[in-house]
Amino acid sequence: MDYDAVIIGAGLGGLAAGAALSGAGKKVLVLEKTGVVGGKCCTSMKNGFKMDHASHLLMRSAFGPFTDALKRVNKENDVKFYHLDDVMFKIRDQRFNFRVSTVLNFMNRLLPTTGLRIMLATSPLANKVISIFSRLFDRMTIQDVVKKWTDSVPFHNCVGWISFILFGGPYYETPFGEMLRTFTDVSALSKMILNEKCMIGYVKDGLISFPNALRDGIEERGGKVQLNTTVSKVLVKNGKVTGVQLEDGQVIDADLVISNTGIKETVKFLVGEEHFDKKYTEYCESLKPGCPAFALRLALDKPVFDYDLVMSIPMPSLEEYYHEMWDRNQVPKELCAIMATSPSNMDPRLAPKGQQSVIVIAPLARDRKTWAAYEKIAMDTIIDAVPEIKDHILWYDYLGPEFYEVHGEIGSPAIGLAQCMGQAGSTRPSSVSPIKGLYYAGAEAGRNVSGVATEIATHSGLNCADYILKMEKTPALVKRAKKMLGIKPSA
Ligand SMILES: Cc1cc2nc3c(=O)[nH]c(=O)nc-3n(C[C@H](O)[C@H](O)[C@H](O)COP(=O)(O)OP(=O)(O)OC[C@H]3O[C@@H](n4cnc5c(N)ncnc54)[C@H](O)[C@@H]3O)c2cc1C
Repeated sequence: MDYDAVIIGAGLGGLAAGAALSGAGKKVLVLEKTGVVGGKCCTSMKNGFKMDHASHLLMRSAFGPFTDALKRVNKENDVKFYHLDDVMFKIRDQRFNFRVSTVLNFMNRLLPTTGLRIMLATSPLANKVISIFSRLFDRMTIQDVVKKWTDSVPFHNCVGWISFILFGGPYYETPFGEMLRTFTDVSALSKMILNEKCMIGYVKDGLISFPNALRDGIEERGGKVQLNTTVSKVLVKNGKVTGVQLEDGQVIDADLVISNTGIKETVKFLVGEEHFDKKYTEYCESLKPGCPAFALRLALDKPVFDYDLVMSIPMPSLEEYYHEMWDRNQVPKELCAIMATSPSNMDPRLAPKGQQSVIVIAPLARDRKTWAAYEKIAMDTIIDAVPEIKDHILWYDYLGPEFYEVHGEIGSPAIGLAQCMGQAGSTRPSSVSPIKGLYYAGAEAGRNVSGVATEIATHSGLNCADYILKMEKTPALVKRAKKMLGIKPSA
């Protein structure tokens, strides 16, 4: 065999797993069906603007799993991060502006530096304790907990919207434990206050710089990232993986295959349900995907959008809005809730000199017949939130969920798997499949992996690879004993 592992898909999950295995001395082959790396975390040129395809804000940016992944292949100095600062919230007719750096400066003065350094040094232990503690809240939704404090509709709207942006689903389905795990990463929090830099941020030179750096790291270590190559089958014999088959019929032998294409899709289309027991295929079928989303990308002839981030929640009740959209498949009557950023404010090289780029994202109903209708609503909403842009739009395009279908996920979810009850924290689907040598990495898999979209995908890839490396060193007797005792895999 030419490679120690074959990875299907060069999204963040696949590349992070590849980087971790390469960093540990393994030779990996990453096969990607499209002509670029990054999956949904991708950037390309259009009319002189460097525009991201989808994702554009990172929850912990330099302080989270992106840096962990880059370090595996010594590429941490190749990617520079921007830390978010100017924020505007529009809640119905009220506008609230603030600078994150001012808040952090205040916190930095309030908390002693030594205390923050101790917090940072003890963060791995603290995070473990928080992760165990947070499981107590995995049976309560975010809405249940907020309702115990207050019935204030604007407050519910804010929490409900932030919860969607983070976890890709409504706050009455997301466990509060997931929010706790995501907001209380002690390492990221202490680095944020010590450095007076918001943990939420963006990758300079476009998000593609991150997957590009991982690809370079893998290739410098003897691995290969092969584009325009679709895997059509994962080959299995006697309950063990033997390799993959490409669309053109070519077979690549491998006894370790990591799929970055989603659990449902891997089981149903790549392996075939006949290779699994009924209970497992039923479990996979029952997994709930995250909500689909769109990106409205605007090129402006002048920098008139003065913020790094804008959140607009124009409707009276976000809960009712979510029910209409997801339970009744209705299109919003006038405006929708949006998040908008200006990538070129965060890195001016992304737009021609004197011009500006803005990206607006929002969830939409699952019924594809409704998808086209959001284009006008999204445009009306961003103009309502930031009217200054109206007379400066050079061009715009609307990337609906159809655009992301190329990555092969059923229903084209923005994040992958809904982080809802029964699918978050310790109840997330495992990266370890029942077939020997077959694993999953990406935003859809990984027990105890938590966080936000691009980061959860990266974290999942790292965890999956670490588990594989750990298992290699575990004596067969211990592995058998764990299986007999029904101890679940940690990845
Ligand atoms: C509109 C929108 C906005 C978003 N905004 C944000 C944001 O602001 N912040 C954030 O953190 N996240 C955001 N996300 C989500 C984030 O982009 C994804 O959760 C993340 O990139 C998923 O990574 P992944 O590795 O799990 O999967 P993917 O990116 O889907 O990667 C899977 C890869 O596998 C390849 N593949 C599939 N099948 C095959 C096959 N048979 N053979 C070979 N290759 C195959 C695909 O082409 C793809 O490259 C957004 C998503 C959308 C759609």
